[in-house]
Amino acid sequence: ERMETNRGAEILDSWLARLNRGVLIVISGPSGAGKGTLCRLLLEKEKDIKLSVSATTRLPRAGEVEGTHYFFMKKADFIQQINENAFLEWAQVYDNYYGTPRKQVEEFLSQGKNVLLEIDIQGALQVKKHYQEAALIFIAPPSLEELAKRIYGRGTDSKEVIQKRLRLASEELEYIDKYDYCIINDEVERATERLQAIVAAERSRIYRS
Ligand code: 5GP
Repeated sequence: ERMETNRGAEILDSWLARLNRGVLIVISGPSGAGKGTLCRLLLEKEKDIKLSVSATTRLPRAGEVEGTHYFFMKKADFIQQINENAFLEWAQVYDNYYGTPRKQVEEFLSQGKNVLLEIDIQGALQVKKHYQEAALIFIAPPSLEELAKRIYGRGTDSKEVIQKRLRLASEELEYIDKYDYCIINDEVERATERLQAIVAAERSRIYRS
């Protein structure tokens, strides 16, 4: 009987170790779908999720802080880091480079922490190639009309830029089937709850791939 309990403890311990590994959560979606807001709310509600801060070659926007929103870099430095394999993934979005520093993410995961990446679709697919257990979540607008309304509502973009973003959004929607989950962001509170539910489910999954 003693041997039976020992065996049971062994099984349970090995699964506990597995289940205690951090989850890599990857969120993307078209501009205007509201992924930035959802990520912010998720991080506020789930204190055990660490945000991966990306590197970018674009200029900081008003209010953006080095090391908090991005690591702002010169193009030459960014390219050098690509060559040094310092990025888990990187992509060119619009006219700038964006990348996820590899070290930060790997350290968090090895400490059993959950990590959130808010990156574009090209980047998300690269991550999935290396980490099959990553949970890819697509944030979609309830309709294209609503998406247009939201982008217009920001009031920051010219009509031309808005048209470009809408065209790009339609292209991006074709990639939903590469993702593990899709959240329709019709209402922010409800969408955040669904996001939290997905993270909780991923943490409890036995096989994460
Ligand atoms: P923004 O310039 O508006 O901050 O970001 C533009 C786009 O780049 C967004 O779709 C954002 O998700 C994406 N992005 C931000 N950081 C990264 C990154 O590290 N890697 C990739 N592939 N995309 C990123």
